[in-house]
Amino acid sequence: MATSNKTESFDYLVIGLQEFLGQKKKYPYPDLLRHAMNALSLEMKQSIPFPKTMSGFLRLLEEPVKDWCPSNFIPEEFDRDFGLMDEGSFSEEANDYLTEVLLDKGRIPKYASTLVKQLVIDHLKFTIILDKLRDVYNDSDPDKAQQEYLIFRTFLIKNKYTTISQIRKAFLRTKHISIEEVGDLYEECQENQNYWYCDRCGILTEKYGRLKGIKPSLCGNHGKNQSYVHQVKWETDLLCIKDGIHQRVCFPGIPELNLYSALEKLQKEHPDYLKEVKLYPGLDRYDLQLRFSDDSGWAIDIKDVRDPYKLAKKLTELYGEGSLRYDESFYVISDRCIQKHPDYLEIARKEAKKLPHTTHLVSDKVFRTRVVRKIAELQTGGTV
Ligand SMILES: [Zn+2]
Repeated sequence: MATSNKTESFDYLVIGLQEFLGQKKKYPYPDLLRHAMNALSLEMKQSIPFPKTMSGFLRLLEEPVKDWCPSNFIPEEFDRDFGLMDEGSFSEEANDYLTEVLLDKGRIPKYASTLVKQLVIDHLKFTIILDKLRDVYNDSDPDKAQQEYLIFRTFLIKNKYTTISQIRKAFLRTKHISIEEVGDLYEECQENQNYWYCDRCGILTEKYGRLKGIKPSLCGNHGKNQSYVHQVKWETDLLCIKDGIHQRVCFPGIPELNLYSALEKLQKEHPDYLKEVKLYPGLDRYDLQLRFSDDSGWAIDIKDVRDPYKLAKKLTELYGEGSLRYDESFYVISDRCIQKHPDYLEIARKEAKKLPHTTHLVSDKVFRTRVVRKIAELQTGGTV
């Protein structure tokens, strides 16, 4: 019991810090932040004096949590080698913890600020659309549900910035998703402001003239003259996707759509051998499904998680019933994760205790060559 209260203080610290960084005025400090600071000051490691000023406290939060935070405060889902702040902003690890642990598991306390409550509401709005499509898929019209899911998800991934007329055009004929529901996942842009995005990691924010993405460890070089960095000029009705949706849908969706386009291209070049490439089959039970001319099926789920230990905990056997059946299954790891960590695949394989050995764990690059090899085998094998 005592331990769970302590990790609750850590949750308050994460939420309170995100509130503090998001508020325009410095004072008053958010209640949750004050609560967490009090709890910490009583139990912080004795070798480290509790900072006397807020700026001193924020500097401390840049350090790995294991160096200053009492170990019984740190929840097991948080990687203790990382800090809560990174170069003056909320760190990537803290952001992941907030969205993947606190928001996903409904662990936001009721006295969080409106800012954080808004994140919860946005998260819910997205979930409500998915649940509705899932019901249609299971109860009445799986084809229609699948078709609308594809329109919805790819629209969000491709359109970090949009306008209401573009939304109207894309969702004019959808039966289960309304234009208002999609519009609710976006917020209005401010006049006379410059907006930016990166082809590789999505929305960029500008601070002190420098551009920063949501995962600097995976995509960090955002010079304004880079070919993959783009500026969006303000126009009437310009909308920008909300933070939570960007994090949950757009960022992981970029490598998914990249691999999908590459496979679609291969399919068009070799339609007699690679018969079909399906994106998000079964309403995203996994990311891609391939059907070859020998009637074999491959199931693929793409992962873009920086830390192989963290990813390993999430890897389980892919669902393969009914139309989702497969002969081979793959977890494909984005190249940017592997480049950062040469032992990535070995570690993930070793640590993924729930993953059957028949499921392959490969890099994006290796996976593409496997598909090409499979097509070549079919061509020479003459199975068509
Ligand atoms: Zn980027």
